[in-house]
Amino acid sequence: MKFIILSLLLFVNTYSYSQNSEYIEIEGVLTHEWGDSFDPKTNFSVVNYYFTFEDKTVQLDVSEKMKEQGPLEFWSGQRVIIKTKDNIHEKSLIKANLIKLVGDKSGNNVTDVTGAQPWVSIACKFSDISTEPENQQYFQDMYANSPGGLDHYWREVSYNKVNVVGSIAIDWINLPSTQTTYVSTPGSGTTADLSLLFTDCTNAADSMVDFSDSGNGQSFVGINMMFNASLDCCAWGGNRWATLDGVTKSWRVTWNPPWAFADEAVISHEMGHGFGLPHANNSDQDSSPYDSPWDVMSAATSYAVNDVVYGRLGKHINSYHKDRLGWYELSDKLILTTNVNSDNTIIIDETSLLSTTEYKMAQIILVDGSFYTIETRKKTGNYEANIVDNAVIIHHVVTGRQEPSWVIDEEQPPANFSDNEGVMWKVGETFTDLSNSLSIEVLSETTNGFEIRIIIDDLIFENSFESPL
Ligand SMILES: [Zn+2]
Repeated sequence: MKFIILSLLLFVNTYSYSQNSEYIEIEGVLTHEWGDSFDPKTNFSVVNYYFTFEDKTVQLDVSEKMKEQGPLEFWSGQRVIIKTKDNIHEKSLIKANLIKLVGDKSGNNVTDVTGAQPWVSIACKFSDISTEPENQQYFQDMYANSPGGLDHYWREVSYNKVNVVGSIAIDWINLPSTQTTYVSTPGSGTTADLSLLFTDCTNAADSMVDFSDSGNGQSFVGINMMFNASLDCCAWGGNRWATLDGVTKSWRVTWNPPWAFADEAVISHEMGHGFGLPHANNSDQDSSPYDSPWDVMSAATSYAVNDVVYGRLGKHINSYHKDRLGWYELSDKLILTTNVNSDNTIIIDETSLLSTTEYKMAQIILVDGSFYTIETRKKTGNYEANIVDNAVIIHHVVTGRQEPSWVIDEEQPPANFSDNEGVMWKVGETFTDLSNSLSIEVLSETTNGFEIRIIIDDLIFENSFESPL
């Protein structure tokens, strides 16, 4: 099978270049890669941004302000124009002064992930380490469409909008180099050479897989690389622009040390990054994005169901994340805006219920453009049976920040880890946001969800806001 790596010259016909005083504007593709330590002591997390143009990929130095302007967190794998003063042909790290999306600027409809999403798992051995943690069958069966398998998991969390049918696993193959060639300090830092690991691992597997054909006429979408010893701090997931077997595109890619594939929840988390998801977070404003147990994209393994073979399984994904991947029908969502007074009593069914005539989520859009999402969770099913408790969960979402969705906590200050009562809204409890004239009251628990009353009324809440003269 023909294998061409980084033949990005194909890319030259879509490249444009213009001069604007001392700034240069260049068009190419933006990709993100997330590094996850999941270490409760350090909670170290990093996001790297890359820009590919012509036949070259450079890392981008992106300011916090620019991330908000984007919102960049929507744009992994998308065509963008960057503006920079740096010599992009000579440097490997470029300071971007502006990044703008080419074409659709809404950022809202470029993130849908639906249909068949076949992945390839490649088990890659460092040349100086012979250990083979797990075998090919383990990696192949990880994709099964039975409870605990990734095909079953992605079908359930996406309401059957996504499957990973056609995914395959390649048996252990040898990398050409030693562990320290790729990782100077195994188990720490962020210096794993992700590019060389990707190139060598996919190259080593080339005789065993045609990346351009997953068996149903389409190329594979993603590559899960399973390594037989530590990388740096982290397991990694995201997108990578490359040419494999003649197909040039943004591939969904994960890099996994043994501790990552020991818990399928971690693989689900990294695949989630591959599908374009950022982290979820709680509201404590510390540097850790791994402190909400209400999303596999945060504390992936906490309060997760334990499988005898695959360890902790992925939990569900919060309703903001599901919505941005395009997994709700319009009828699944109640969308309200605080510009208009309203009083709605609705039932929202629990997030793992595949089909329902009730709502699956509610979204309340605030005047500043941020919004609340409301979902319900129950200790039931293959992936949610071990969550903290049955409850209504509310997230405040600000697109543009590194972790857009923060779970709302009644406690002040918010708990360090959000397995507390403050984040679980239960029968008789009311969340009130006076500045947005809003209340969300949990009226009752139903068989499959919760009955909730949402009141938006500037007269009621302005009166309650009055202070005695
Ligand atoms: Zn992550």
